[in-house]
Amino acid sequence: MATLRQQALGIVQARPRVKVTPPSPKISDFFGTNVFGTDQMKQSLAPSVFKKVMEAIDKGSKIDVQTAEEVASAVKTWALSKGVTHYTHWFQPLTGSTAEKHDSFFDAHAGLEKFKGSALVQQEPDASSFPNGGIRSTFEARGYTAWDPSSPIFIFDNTLCIPTIFVSYTGEALDYKTPLLKSLEAINEAAVQICQLFDRNVRKVTPSLGVEQEYFVIDKALFNARPDLVMAGRSVYGHNPARGQQLEDHYFGSIPTRVKDFMVDFEIEAHKLGIPVSTRHNEVAPGQFEVAPVFEEINKAVDHNQLLMDMMDKVAERHGLKVLFHEKPFAGVNGSGKHNNWSLITDTGVNLFQPSNSARENLQFLTFLVATIKAVYDNADLLRASIASAGNDFRLGANEAPPAIISVFLGETLTGVLDELEKNGNIKIEKGDNMYMKLGISKIPEIILDNTDRNRTSPFAFTGNKFEFRAVGSGSNCAGPMSTLNVIVAEALNTMAKDIEKEIEAGKEKKIAIVNVLRKYIKDSKKVRFEGDGYSEEWEKEAAKRGLSNLKATPEALDVYAAKATKEIFERHNVMNALELHARHEIQLENFIMKVQIEARVMGDLALNHVIPTAILYQNKVIQNANGLKGLGLDHSAAVETIKEVSKHVESLKSNVTAMIDARKKLNKEEDVVKRAKGYQKDVKEAYFDKIRYAVDKLELLVDDESWPLVKYREMLFIR
Ligand code: ADP
Ligand code: MG
Repeated sequence: MATLRQQALGIVQARPRVKVTPPSPKISDFFGTNVFGTDQMKQSLAPSVFKKVMEAIDKGSKIDVQTAEEVASAVKTWALSKGVTHYTHWFQPLTGSTAEKHDSFFDAHAGLEKFKGSALVQQEPDASSFPNGGIRSTFEARGYTAWDPSSPIFIFDNTLCIPTIFVSYTGEALDYKTPLLKSLEAINEAAVQICQLFDRNVRKVTPSLGVEQEYFVIDKALFNARPDLVMAGRSVYGHNPARGQQLEDHYFGSIPTRVKDFMVDFEIEAHKLGIPVSTRHNEVAPGQFEVAPVFEEINKAVDHNQLLMDMMDKVAERHGLKVLFHEKPFAGVNGSGKHNNWSLITDTGVNLFQPSNSARENLQFLTFLVATIKAVYDNADLLRASIASAGNDFRLGANEAPPAIISVFLGETLTGVLDELEKNGNIKIEKGDNMYMKLGISKIPEIILDNTDRNRTSPFAFTGNKFEFRAVGSGSNCAGPMSTLNVIVAEALNTMAKDIEKEIEAGKEKKIAIVNVLRKYIKDSKKVRFEGDGYSEEWEKEAAKRGLSNLKATPEALDVYAAKATKEIFERHNVMNALELHARHEIQLENFIMKVQIEARVMGDLALNHVIPTAILYQNKVIQNANGLKGLGLDHSAAVETIKEVSKHVESLKSNVTAMIDARKKLNKEEDVVKRAKGYQKDVKEAYFDKIRYAVDKLELLVDDESWPLVKYREMLFIR
C-alpha cells in the first residue's frame, strides 16, 4: 500500500486551481461591507444615539441601557439584512487565539428574531475551561464578556461578532484586550503631559500599529501527512533539502499561482471586514510569505490581526492549503515573525516619531525618541518576556535571528544626532542664542524616512517615523507585547516629565530643561543602542560586556514577571494587578510546558511508530542483499556498512526516546511550575530534541526514498 506521503504527493499534483473573482474590480466598492462601523452607525442610529456611541469610543464613557438597546436593534436589522442568523461575543482569552460562542437571534418563544441591548453589552459565557492562572476558583468560575465599542462589530462566517473584553467575576482580566485598553489610558496620559510642553492643544495621544505578518503555506494533503505539523505546528524531523533559501530566489520573487489565488481570496475577505491589507510578497524562506495592512489605531489593529489569522486559516481551506503561523515550522530556513510597527499620534494629527523641519517639533520628536530608548533600556527584560513562547524560542537566540538580546537600532543619522546632543553637553547656551542650531538639532534631514538604514537584524528598530518591534512571534497576540511597550514608555515619559519639572523649578528655561534631561537619558541608555549585525557572535559577547540580558529560553525569560519592580510598574499604571500578573506568568509557563510536552510526545511517537519500523524493514532488505552477495562470493562490505549505520541510529533513537520519556515522567511530578518549566527546557528539550532529530534525519538519508513515511522538506517547501 502506498504511504500517506505518496498519496499526499499524488493529491497535490492533481489539485485544481481555485479561481477567485473579486466582487468588484474596485476595493472601495466592497471595503468594510461586513463591518458595522462609523458610517453604518451614522446611517442607522438617531443622531443623539450616534453621538453617545462616538463619545464612548473617543472618551471611553459608559453606554447607557437605552443607547445599548438602540444600537442592538440597529445592529440586528443590519445583520438580518445580510442573512446572518447568529451572534457572538468575540474575545481573546489567554490561549492566544480568539473565542466565540454563537447564539441564535431566533427566539422560539416569541417566534421572531431578537437581540437585546443587554445581550450586546454583556454576556456570561460558561468559560471555566479557559486558562485563568488560578484567578477563578472553582466555586466562582464565572467570567464575563463586555462590549468594547472602540473596535467595530463585524460579520464573520455568517455570524455577528461583537468585540469584547473578558474578565472574571471579581474584575480581573482573563484576556489580552483588557490590559491593552488600560495601557492606552496610561500612555495617553503620560504622552499628553509631555506634548503639552510643546503644544497646549494636544488633548489625546493614541498608539498606532501596523503588523507585518509572516506565514508559511503548504498543501493541505502534505500537512495532514505530517503528524508533527498537525499536532505541534512544527516539523520535528526532516533532513535539510539540497536547496533551501541559499539562492535567495524566493524573496520578493514571483508568487506561486495557488498561493496568489489564496492571497487574493483572503484579501477580499479582509477588505470586506474593513482590514486594510495592502502589501503581499514572498518572504525569505521557500514557502514563506507576508501580508501587511496599513497601520491603524492600535486596539483595532490588534483585533484585525487576530481576525486576519483566523480568517486566513479558513480561506486556505477552500484552496486545499494550510497556513502555518508557527514561529519556526521548518528547521534550517527562516522562521516567521510579526513586525509590530508602532508610533504615537496626537489628536492634532502629529506623529510624535516623525522628524520634521521645524526645530521645535524636532525637540519634541527627540523627547519621545529618547524616552522610548530609555524605556527599552530600563525594561528590556519585560519586553523580552512579552514575546516569550515555546515557538518563539526557536527564533530568538537560536540559529537565526533576531537575537534574544533586546537592543535598539537608530540608523546613522539619528545616532549622529544623539551623539552630538550628548557630546555638546557642556555647551553654554546664552540668552538669545539659537539653542537648536548650537545643539545641532535644528534640522533632522527629512529624507531620514527614505534613507533609514535597513538593519534587519535588530529586534527593535527605528524605521523613519515609527519603531518596529520585530521580535514578536508570528503566532502570538500583539496585545501582549504592545501593552508592555505602552506601559514602559508611559513610565519613561512620566519620569521624564518629573525630571524636566525639577529642572524648571531650579530656574532653567523650559527648552534647556528638556535638553538637559534628554542628555542625561541618552547617556544612561546608551548601552541598549546597537547598530551592527545582531546575528553575530561578536554581538553576543559585546552585549554580555555591556551587561545586557540574553535570555534564550521562555521559562527564564518569564522570571521577570515575579519581580517586585514588574508588579510595581504594572500597578502604577493601573494596567495589571499582582494577581493578574501572577496568573499570566503561570499560564505562560504552563503553555510552554504543554508545547514542549506535545513536541516531545510527537517526536517519540514518530520515532517509535514510523521511523524505527521503516528503518528495520529497510535494514532487512539490505541484510538479504548482503547475504546474497556473500553467497555469490562478492564484496558485501557496503551493505554491511549500511546495516551497521542503521543499527547505530535505531539504537540511539530507542535509548534517547526512552530516556526522554523518563525525564518527562520525573518532571511531571514536580509541583513548582517554574521548576517544571525550566526542567522541560533543560532536561527534555535541550537534553534530547537535537540528539533524537539527528538520528532520524540521518536515517532519512539512509532509508530508500520510496518507503520513507514522512513528507520530506523538499516536498513541503517546494511542491504546491
Ligand atoms: P517595511 O518595514 O517592510 O519597509 P513599511 O515601511 O511600508 O514596510 O511599513 C510596514 C508597516 O508599518 C505597515 O503596516 C505600515 O502601515 C506601518 N506603518 C507605517 N507608518 C506607521 C506609523 N506611523 N505607525 C505605525 N505603523 C506604521
Ligand atoms: Mg518592516
